[in-house]
Amino acid sequence: MRLVLLGAPGSGKGTQAARLKREFGVPHISTGDMLRAAVAAGTPMGQKAKAVMDAGQLVSDDILLGMLEDRLAQDDAKGGFILDGYPRNLAQADALDHLLTRIGQPLDAVIKLNVPNKAIIGRCEIRFQAEGRADDNPDTVRKRLAIYAEQTAPVADFYAHRGKLKIVDGVGELDEITARVKCALAGESATANG
Ligand code: AMP
Repeated sequence: MRLVLLGAPGSGKGTQAARLKREFGVPHISTGDMLRAAVAAGTPMGQKAKAVMDAGQLVSDDILLGMLEDRLAQDDAKGGFILDGYPRNLAQADALDHLLTRIGQPLDAVIKLNVPNKAIIGRCEIRFQAEGRADDNPDTVRKRLAIYAEQTAPVADFYAHRGKLKIVDGVGELDEITARVKCALAGESATANG
């Protein structure tokens, strides 16, 4: 399974990816987690990215593409992957397309988790209290949502035009949402298999 999960910050991509990776036996690749690990390790790239992330802005496309290319070259990603947090704009979607074509691993599907902004703000507030992520403070979440609407939302159309996009309601019990995603993907493989 080669899957991209799309959705606003706090839409549940990470939570669902963690469940789906068990189901499909492929790694969950979160660019946000990779960047946070680089920040925590104090690598030069992490030091560069920290201020950008804390402000809720996007880290540069070049850094992200290099990071992703290295990650997809690892053995555990040879049999597929679940991408969470990438692509975040059209340039990244295009770069991903080229990269996956080059390595012979085209996407099977793209799932977009739909969650209204009001619910997103509530979820991020809870995560802010629980995990203390600087970019989950309410002001920064509003900025991240604005960037999402402006830069990431068009990525859904990019995949819709390629017939890859499935939209899933991301509100409800976790099990229910996982079942909806699996159902959307089963529809995908039923179509793919004829
Ligand atoms: P996330 O955990 O996916 O919400 O990502 C946290 C932060 O990491 C984002 O607000 C960005 O600053 C940065 N980030 C993660 N993925 C990307 C990406 N694909 N492009 C640019 N910045 C990213």
